[in-house]
Amino acid sequence: MKGQVAFIPGAHKIEFHEYDVPPPPDGGAIAAVTQTNVCGSEVHMWRGEYGRRGIMPGHEMSGRIVALGRGVSTDWAGSPVKEGDRIAPVYYTVCNRCANCVVGNHAACINKTFGSRHPDEPPHFTATFATHYFIRPDQHFYRIPENVPDVVASSANCAMSQVFWSLDRGRLAYGETLLVLGAGGLGLHAMAIAKARGARVVAVDAIASRLNQAKRFGADETIDMREYPDFDARHDRIRKLCNGAPDVVLEVAGVPDAFLESLKTVRAGGRVVEVGNISNALQVQVPPSLITFKSLEVIGVATYPPHYLKKSLDFLAINIDRYPYTELCDALFPLSKAAEAMDKSERKEATRAGLLVEQR
Ligand SMILES: [Zn+2]
Ligand SMILES: [Zn+2]
Repeated sequence: MKGQVAFIPGAHKIEFHEYDVPPPPDGGAIAAVTQTNVCGSEVHMWRGEYGRRGIMPGHEMSGRIVALGRGVSTDWAGSPVKEGDRIAPVYYTVCNRCANCVVGNHAACINKTFGSRHPDEPPHFTATFATHYFIRPDQHFYRIPENVPDVVASSANCAMSQVFWSLDRGRLAYGETLLVLGAGGLGLHAMAIAKARGARVVAVDAIASRLNQAKRFGADETIDMREYPDFDARHDRIRKLCNGAPDVVLEVAGVPDAFLESLKTVRAGGRVVEVGNISNALQVQVPPSLITFKSLEVIGVATYPPHYLKKSLDFLAINIDRYPYTELCDALFPLSKAAEAMDKSERKEATRAGLLVEQR
């Protein structure tokens, strides 16, 4: 059986490489990718921001088990699995032994491993812009609940799980106010989860369609940056709609200025959770005294403890009819049109572009 896997050799270029699909490793599995998405990090890859050696795009996916390795009869939550079952894998592995893992912060595992840099490296299928995906023995994967379609489950193993963990790290509590800067995929997932825990949610963005989606994903109030382009006016508006300063600010706009804005807007003693900025080249000048005098907690979150994927899938199963999850992917392309999907995402013409992988 042959399969294809994508490679970005440099900015705005994509190649598809073909290999024999390897057998599943003992304790692992081979999945056929059914859908994979263009996440924010793929846009950075597409712009060539992650080094000159090229990179394999794709980490959000849903798929179907093609073959199970020896010894595998359940997913990582104990549900029985067989060939043909729909699953979502965590896109990295953690060591369970380092200083962070042993205290439960697996998201900060210092020995986290991702896929290969180049698809030539066996087992080839270690990123999800591909027809197949190689699940390693120590790599968590979970069955997708029956009522959750692939188009929804595909964003659970990055965007959703990451903000689920972010709100836990920010200790967002019942009755508190959350300000979400950025109403893209991460932001929308955060709004729904925040509502489920009884928080008030205010969202800021500059794109009308995203603000509309924010309302539908539970935001109590939205602020259009185009109406409040300068910070002081926006800050007044935030304070009005949040009934004072927000307790927690989630930065998922991915621009450095939004980080500074988080520090300025959060209440004294509040928590800022930084998720969106993932480009080392982008900077903002921050007066550290802002953090000191306001006694702020600033929490960075990349990835999530693997079992948060299970929490996300369970949350989706319960809330699938409550929020318009099926519309989250607002542009679908075949895998062969990945370049077009990333172009559209880069130009922000799509909130979340999905790639449907043809099954043979
Ligand atoms: Zn670790
Ligand atoms: Zn992602």
